[in-house]
Amino acid sequence: IAGKGLVIKIGVLELQGGYALHHNLLKKIGLNSVPIKSSDDLKQSDGLIIPGGESTTLSLLMKKYNLRESIINFAKNNPVLGTCAGLILMSKVVDDERVDPLGLFDLSVSRNAYGRQIHSSKKRICFRYNQAEKIEFDSTFIRAPKIKYIGENIDIVAKHENLPVAIFAKNLLGLSFHPEIDGIDIFHKMMFDKTSKFYYKNMN
Ligand code: GLN
Repeated sequence: IAGKGLVIKIGVLELQGGYALHHNLLKKIGLNSVPIKSSDDLKQSDGLIIPGGESTTLSLLMKKYNLRESIINFAKNNPVLGTCAGLILMSKVVDDERVDPLGLFDLSVSRNAYGRQIHSSKKRICFRYNQAEKIEFDSTFIRAPKIKYIGENIDIVAKHENLPVAIFAKNLLGLSFHPEIDGIDIFHKMMFDKTSKFYYKNMN
């Protein structure tokens, strides 16, 4: 890619929240990661992770550091993965006016709909990466958002109790939960690891 190095580098947004574990997981699957704190950082990056945290705070900080428009532009043709608060920010409509979402996905979400901090827990997730194969595992929900409305051309790639918890469209993946806490690398491979069978361009 013109202007970028030969080594693939995945950016992790470091404004607030749980970014550290994403760096660890990317390292574990053999990918380089870089912190994203400004739109210049984003220019050096081949992909982006928007981590969990507080979507209200993240929304304010994105504006403060002039990252809002750059992330929206970056997401037009680079892979972006959002977990929990990251999913909230990627959506179009949020049931909390303090959050100004980026509108990357035609989606509406409800904040904290899986309950308060004390209800945080591991839940069973059923993931489908092509028509045939299913993988089940437990992953962590922390004041997680529920996906209320899903627009056209968005695929549900994972469900919990038959409700969508992972949605995918083109180069974008949003998760209600936190695979990085459980060391589950499927979703990071799906978005960023071109050698993986889970890589999204291999999906059907
Ligand atoms: N409840 C948080 C929010 O609404 C998200 C929690 C998380 O990212 N684990 O922003």
